Amino acid sequence: MSANERSHGRKSIHASITPRALIGDSPDLAGVWRADILSLFPDTFPGVLGASITGKALKENKWQLHTHDLRTYGEGKHRNVDDTPAGGGAGMVMRADVLGRAISDVLRRRDPCPIIYMSPRGRPLTHTRAKTLANGPGAIVLCGRFEGIDQRIIDHFQIEEISIGDYVLSGGELAAQVMLDASIRLIPGVLGNQTSTEEESFSNGLLEHPQFTRPLVWEGREIPPVLMSGHHGKVADWQKQQSEALTQQRRPDLWKEFNKSHKN
Ligand code: SAH
Repeated sequence: MSANERSHGRKSIHASITPRALIGDSPDLAGVWRADILSLFPDTFPGVLGASITGKALKENKWQLHTHDLRTYGEGKHRNVDDTPAGGGAGMVMRADVLGRAISDVLRRRDPCPIIYMSPRGRPLTHTRAKTLANGPGAIVLCGRFEGIDQRIIDHFQIEEISIGDYVLSGGELAAQVMLDASIRLIPGVLGNQTSTEEESFSNGLLEHPQFTRPLVWEGREIPPVLMSGHHGKVADWQKQQSEALTQQRRPDLWKEFNKSHKN
């Protein structure tokens, strides 16, 4: 592992005992879904991915996380990573040479995988993309800052751009964590109860039905009696009807697609 790379999860517990920089090779867990993050703020990882399901899975080596500090690939004494935009304009742009060095370095150390740039100009993240990512070997994820990155990097490495929504964040780190969270929970074996992903929103093209739990009555509001009937068929019918009604009301776009695919 080079000096700027950190691996997270169970292996990292031993980092202070064995200086991996001296061993040389990065502690890649062969065959384990791997995320390589390129960021100016690597300490923001694992962030929320260190909690709950994704955190437990990280400790159990069901996926691995390697962060790379872009600053260490910077130019000159000050390790510059950005410069003023060609053609003028506000802000700074991340340099192609710096990012190119970082990406090439990571590519040398891992199996081939998609390279993704978190970007408001990207294709919106969907359940389907999260799932195909989960079923692959992992991803190299580039987190932008400032005004973004030099276009030549995207063209040269044929980088896929993914957006998490129509708004602008200050940096790609949160977006990367959103995308990784959505994918990691779909890696086979990460969620104990596989059926819970099969029934939840988007997996069947619909939004999920409302959920209830004890107490039976709260602030005068009852759990719908059908759910307490013990009649599985009726429960399933009610959930299906709710799911379809919700999708129709809230997401006409999804409803249209759902009907198209269920016509024949
Ligand atoms: N000037 C750019 C925005 C740069 S925001 C533009 O107008 O398109 C800085 C960084 O935050 C980006 O490089 C990107 O990595 C990240 N980012 C911002 N909004 C995002 C979004 N909706 N989805 C994914 N990444 C985003």
